[in-house]
Amino acid sequence: MDLFKKLKASSHEQLVFFREQISHLRAIVAIHDTTLGPAIGGVRMWPYDSEEAAVEDALRLSRAMTYKAAGAGLNFGGGQTVIIGDPRNDKTEAQFRALGRFIDSLGGRYIAAEGVGTSFNDMDYIRMETRYVMGIPSSRGGSGDPSPFCAVGIMGGLEACRAFLTGSESLEGISVAVQGVGRVGSRLVERLVAEGASVTVADIDPEALSRVTSEGDVKAVGSDDIYGVKCDVFSPCALGGVLNARTIPRLKCKIVAGAANNQLEHEADGDDLHRRGILYAPDYIINAGGLINVAEEIYGYDEERAKRKTAAIKDVLLEVLTTARKQGIPTHAAADRFAERRIEQVGRVRRSYDSA
Ligand code: NAD
Repeated sequence: MDLFKKLKASSHEQLVFFREQISHLRAIVAIHDTTLGPAIGGVRMWPYDSEEAAVEDALRLSRAMTYKAAGAGLNFGGGQTVIIGDPRNDKTEAQFRALGRFIDSLGGRYIAAEGVGTSFNDMDYIRMETRYVMGIPSSRGGSGDPSPFCAVGIMGGLEACRAFLTGSESLEGISVAVQGVGRVGSRLVERLVAEGASVTVADIDPEALSRVTSEGDVKAVGSDDIYGVKCDVFSPCALGGVLNARTIPRLKCKIVAGAANNQLEHEADGDDLHRRGILYAPDYIINAGGLINVAEEIYGYDEERAKRKTAAIKDVLLEVLTTARKQGIPTHAAADRFAERRIEQVGRVRRSYDSA
């Protein structure tokens, strides 16, 4: 792997490899950009096929976090840890304590948070060794489960999309197809039903499905059929990469707005949605509620403040959609410009003070 070339191409600042003998920890921390503040990002544990695949994932996810934090108005940059291992069989307390020590050695340049394959408990172990970790259980004074905040942000984003297209932000009477009714999706369904929307859902987990269909007027369809449901909004709340050349031609919606990270398989899929006249709410803008909540821990967690900041997602999204319309560009491109402009402007101010 030509690592320095790779780091240059993606503008990464730092890539750190950690190995610990006793616990067999193999971890990689990627720090993309710290212009706005310390890099924040999840700890993902995954049985990667190769070290190259682990590096690629760390680089991709840390870059995405830079954009997400910038778009959410947070004073954080983007980072990511990946641990090479199977979260079902390989996890130990010793590994996360070792990781905590390593993260501490970065002196605050990177702040860890929960990610795919890791949990609150793992963050607790990291916290025993370093203060550079967020997303601690509420019982320990942390921000607790971020999912309710993510769902609130999605609702605000849906209102912004409706207001943008119709002039009214009311969700009453609209039809929404929700893909994935886990922690975020199920809360979203609950709120949509309360607002008088008609909801269709799909999930590969029958238990998750029965939890949401047992209450209110919620219809279930097969997990592949959800793409073709005729509706106002398609809301991806399960996996990344679901907007692609195979699925987009099947969509019968006016808006795509959901919680999943990295919804576009490729940037060109965002262009395709734009050409087809489907309004896409850029994922990292609309799903930032969870991160906003976690990031509040830096000031000493305050739920009311986290709620107020999450409510502002609606205004940010409206600004991005309006810019896209004015400039005639796809919404995902407008979101990137929005985030890049903030990094550039704040970065210039900070550098000018540093050199004074
Ligand atoms: P979750 O694991 O609780 O729920 C995901 C649900 O999707 C599960 O019920 C799962 O069975 C279902 N699913 C998986 N594959 C599916 C498929 N092919 N078709 C239909 N359903 C499928 O996850 P979550 O915390 O609700 O997060 C949902 C998405 O939102 C993820 O992409 C996550 O990265 C993203 N996200 C979550 C948060 C948060 O605060 N939880 C914040 C930002 C982004």
